[in-house]
Amino acid sequence: MIIDDQIYDLIIVGTGAGGGTLAAKLAPTGKKILILERGDFMPLEEQNRSNVDIFKRERYHAPEQWYDTAGEPFSPQMNYAIGGNTKIYGAVLTRFRERDFEAVNHQSGSSPEWGVKYADFEPYYTEAERLYQVHGQATIDPTEPPHSQDYPFPAIAHDPQIETIVETLSQQRLHPAPLPLGLTRQADDPTNDSEVSGIVPALKHPNVTVKTGAKVVCLHTNPSGRAVKGVEAEIAGQSYLFLADLVVLSCGAVNSAALLLRSISDRHPNGLANSSGLVGRNLMKSLMTVVVQLSTKPNSGAFPKTVCVNDFYWGDRDFPYPMGHIQNSGGLLTDIIFAEAPPMFSVLAKFMPNFGLKQLATHSIGWWAQTEDLPSPNNRVRVEADKLYIDYTPNNVEAHDRLVYRWTDMLKTIEKEVDGFQRGIMHPRGEIPIQVMANQCGTCRFGEDPATSVVDLNCRTHDIDNLYVVDSSFFPSNASVSPALTIIANALRVGDHLLERLH
Ligand SMILES: Cc1cc2nc3c(=O)[nH]c(=O)nc-3n(C[C@H](O)[C@H](O)[C@H](O)COP(=O)(O)OP(=O)(O)OC[C@H]3O[C@@H](n4cnc5c(N)ncnc54)[C@H](O)[C@@H]3O)c2cc1C
Repeated sequence: MIIDDQIYDLIIVGTGAGGGTLAAKLAPTGKKILILERGDFMPLEEQNRSNVDIFKRERYHAPEQWYDTAGEPFSPQMNYAIGGNTKIYGAVLTRFRERDFEAVNHQSGSSPEWGVKYADFEPYYTEAERLYQVHGQATIDPTEPPHSQDYPFPAIAHDPQIETIVETLSQQRLHPAPLPLGLTRQADDPTNDSEVSGIVPALKHPNVTVKTGAKVVCLHTNPSGRAVKGVEAEIAGQSYLFLADLVVLSCGAVNSAALLLRSISDRHPNGLANSSGLVGRNLMKSLMTVVVQLSTKPNSGAFPKTVCVNDFYWGDRDFPYPMGHIQNSGGLLTDIIFAEAPPMFSVLAKFMPNFGLKQLATHSIGWWAQTEDLPSPNNRVRVEADKLYIDYTPNNVEAHDRLVYRWTDMLKTIEKEVDGFQRGIMHPRGEIPIQVMANQCGTCRFGEDPATSVVDLNCRTHDIDNLYVVDSSFFPSNASVSPALTIIANALRVGDHLLERLH
């Protein structure tokens, strides 16, 4: 093993929503920061999500295999690159609702209270929306939490067909609202991500170094086992050891947990920072279904996702439990996740055998229904020898089904009003495949009690004083809206704590 001759103030592992944002926050300190990222910078053509090529399955899957509970291998949808999964995300940057931070009763259980509340997160949400140039409007959706400042940019205009639907939904007493979107003004790739807003500005500071193609495989502690001393990484087939005073993991919820579980020593026989036995447990990844409305009237097939409906978020008169969030998927030619719904695609192909993909995309509007899944200790990341297992059984499924049926009913109700809509709504019931790990979270939950959480409220591991986990792992519960803005806001929040610690 080659031992690097530098001693860093801080090592950040991973450059996604958590790691990339934290790097931007801490770079101006002048402290010696090393960023280790297993992927590389993505060439621009690889970042182009508007290409029909996107439908080629597994384009953005990791070049490795994980295993499900039955031991079946699968290739996870993970993007290992500078920017991590934010390089392929939809850039929908939504705040969690105030009640998402509280204990909530669900139809099939409960989600726990967070130790840090919405009011604590609010200034960081505002900072995050500025950093990621979020376009939105906070005044329409009744579930929208209070904002101390408006969105920095106005909401994106709807496609004309979506605008008609928005008006029709409003007549049904719903509150369709603009989706908050993180966008830059650049024409070639308008999406804002943690490379653009995190790593690029961080690297303008001479005290920050990034090593790409550096896969961290193990953390080594000092003899007492109380502090991490060395970060072991493989670079081009060679082992390196990097030394630092503080270490932050931001590998994503699955990989951060796996790394801790693999960092076994005499002092930590069950993995590092795992005295609670909770590392890897409580994995959540959201329940998602795509609902497609067919239309005789063509659309461009390439418009952005711009609208969400949260009227069912906390339930309704007939079902007094949280159901979740609806958003339009964007023109299906631009929607990467659609590529992850092969069962849906084959149903569509059967239904309309002569339709080419383009024809289909220009004659349909997709909707995503998304529901929170609940933390369960049996849903978890597990490592055995060099294999990584995902044990995951979806829960809270009835609430999700209710949401899908509510939405399908609503589309049927409005189809008479919208020119071109025809009776043809499809929502083939099917679990989102295990390889879709987009909203993974929860594997190192935060809390005050070391017996029931892995990291404290500053995301420092209870067991190891100089080790932090700053990605989606810290979530004690999921929410029905997507996670990235909360991961970003949390990285800024932990960044303030680390600014004090680094001084
Ligand atoms: C197709 C898709 C669409 C999505 N759309 C949205 C959306 O519209 N809105 C939203 O809120 N969320 C969305 N998400 C989810 C969002 O992208 C993630 O929640 C977010 O990126 C997670 O941030 P993170 O920092 O936890 O991890 P990641 O962004 O996954 O970053 C982890 C980083 O760590 C690196 N890494 C992993 N292991 C190692 C290792 N051992 N050594 C070194 N580096 C390592 C990875 O390469 C990566 O750069 C989407 C995700 C996908 C896949």
